[in-house]
Amino acid sequence: MLSAKKKVVISACILGEYCRYDGKTKEISAVEKAFKGWEIIPFCPEAPLFGTPRERINVVAVDGEYRIITDETNIDVTEKLRDEIESFCKQHADIDAIVLKSKSPSCGYKTTPILDTSKHEIKKGNGIAADIFLKNYPNIPILDEHHFLNE
Ligand code: SF4
Repeated sequence: MLSAKKKVVISACILGEYCRYDGKTKEISAVEKAFKGWEIIPFCPEAPLFGTPRERINVVAVDGEYRIITDETNIDVTEKLRDEIESFCKQHADIDAIVLKSKSPSCGYKTTPILDTSKHEIKKGNGIAADIFLKNYPNIPILDEHHFLNE
């Protein structure tokens, strides 16, 4: 009997989708190559909600809580993103690895600028998707593209 393929969730912009806020991609072919033989599940929570291109969003520390807020119009989109990401997790309960795009307010893992309400960076942290994935997939490795690049 054939064994089921392992499954990896990868940020869609790393896979070559033109889903970044500026309409561009961040394709890194080394990531897809590293998972040859795996089932690859593209993930991008922002594009389906806000379209592409779209206004940039930021992680902002507000009263001790991290919120996701649009850069110019100052709209809090935290709950919309949270619902989108939680819904993705429910549809993909059974995965084996996650590779996220660094520095993104959604996907960044330990690399995302966390801003104060004056938009000054106060530290690096996680995007909202990385936080939700850590909670929902506590035993699954979470990496970013740097793991696959010779730097
Ligand atoms: S970093 Fe994440 S949210 Fe941003 S474009 Fe890539 S997949 Fe989409």
